[in-house]
Amino acid sequence: MKVVGLTGGIGSGKSTVAKMFLELGVPVYNSDERAKKLMDTSAEIKNQIIAFLGKESYHEEKLNRAYIAKKVFNDTTLLAQLNAIVHPVVREDFLKWTGEQEYCYVIQETALLFENNSQHLYDSIILVTAPKEERISRVVRRDNGTREQVIARMNNQMDDEEKLNLSDFVIENIDIERTRSIVLQVHAAIITDC
Ligand code: ATP
Repeated sequence: MKVVGLTGGIGSGKSTVAKMFLELGVPVYNSDERAKKLMDTSAEIKNQIIAFLGKESYHEEKLNRAYIAKKVFNDTTLLAQLNAIVHPVVREDFLKWTGEQEYCYVIQETALLFENNSQHLYDSIILVTAPKEERISRVVRRDNGTREQVIARMNNQMDDEEKLNLSDFVIENIDIERTRSIVLQVHAAIITDC
């Protein structure tokens, strides 16, 4: 079974594109969603986070997100340490999930695929792109946030120019119908050699 990575910057439309693949019958694993869930449910993660950031990290069995965010905000070392706790558990969960799928390929949707140097884990990588200004207005609209918040997150991500060379397929997501037709082309190309 082939493992395909799906990535793209904030607001590019990863989840929108992932849904289109899902509708074609492709099993899709959303890493960020699973990581959030596992941070609440995995004893392995919980024990390590408590040892690392203290008892207040959990409140009534759930991750105390506000506390964690305050702790790791603007501290790249702490954030990297937190990721080092969470990533191996997500990886294990992904491999277990993959073993349960019956299809010619699976997609793993991950926002920070290149930033985490994970490209070697995939048979192919799909990159979703859209112009920066468009991405900013989409996320401001979606999350009811500010431009500055979106730009701050964008600044923690690699630029599309760098990601383009590292990707096998690029889906430019501006006009949604055109996106849908590129998804069909990419899907056809991947299943050709299944
Ligand atoms: P994030 O990195 O923040 O998780 P994402 O890359 O997964 O974002 P989506 O959540 O799919 O992006 O899209 C961001 C917002 O833009 C959503 O509200 C979505 O409905 C909207 N959107 C996605 N694609 C388009 C498009 N082609 N035209 C207009 N709006 C779009």
